[in-house]
Amino acid sequence: MRLKVENLHYSYGESDALKGVSFFVNEGEFVGLIGPNGSGKSTALKNIYRGLRPDKGSIEIDGENLLTMSYKNSALKMAVVGQENDVPFDFMVEEIVAMGRTPHKKLFDLDDEHDKEIVHHALEHLGMESMAKKNYLHLSGGEKQRVIIARAIAQESDFYILDEPTNHLDISYQLQIFDFIKRLNVTVLSAIHDLNMAALYCDRLYVLKKGEIVLSGSPEEVLTEENIYNVYGVNSSVTKNALTGKVSISFLPAGVNK
Ligand code: ADP
Ligand code: MG
Repeated sequence: MRLKVENLHYSYGESDALKGVSFFVNEGEFVGLIGPNGSGKSTALKNIYRGLRPDKGSIEIDGENLLTMSYKNSALKMAVVGQENDVPFDFMVEEIVAMGRTPHKKLFDLDDEHDKEIVHHALEHLGMESMAKKNYLHLSGGEKQRVIIARAIAQESDFYILDEPTNHLDISYQLQIFDFIKRLNVTVLSAIHDLNMAALYCDRLYVLKKGEIVLSGSPEEVLTEENIYNVYGVNSSVTKNALTGKVSISFLPAGVNK
């Protein structure tokens, strides 16, 4: 799976949310989109998973034009995991996971034994099999996200689009969710709010600011004190953690200078 986005433009009415954005994700990479609130991360992802239609530009998956592909074919190629509260409806856990099978089926096809097995395995993979019959809305935030990842697994796609998937989750779930996804060995494009999480899990980063990509590279190249100040306007102290081998960022409150 390789994604190539070129010169992507998108506006909501008069306001330009993406002003000619280009980036790529190679097979097997974990790529992070970072940037301040409102910089266009979700808009970029929505254009890729076809929640929005680009005004201009091209999006290719494995060299194929995504914008002329049937919706069903594009749905087979990518699994989407949004924020924890993105599923408003009242379903059992196993029903939500079974929705991952939808792009594989024809209209009105019922779930067969094969589908049921896949759903069961997906839940098992995330340690959620005992919750199959529970009401989704009664789960905790971290459990809900595990169900949505199980749905993505049931879809059997090897490309995941994540939009701040651990927002509102406490630190143990944040690590657990990213660890699960990392272990799947799939290709990932994820908007990530937390720069330390981006540093821990991403191979490469793109920084969006006001609808443009202003920086890109490895977390080490991108997450410097100078860049963080230029993009977010905050002072920080960036060090390399001896255990993870990754950069680690401490933000400095007013009055603390390096
Ligand atoms: P991010 O995900 O980086 O926080 P978004 O892609 O959600 O940013 O938003 C980019 C810009 O587009 C922001 O200025 C935001 O206010 C605007 N925007 C997002 N969604 C809509 C919408 N549905 N209608 C109008 N403007 C929107
Ligand atoms: Mg967003």
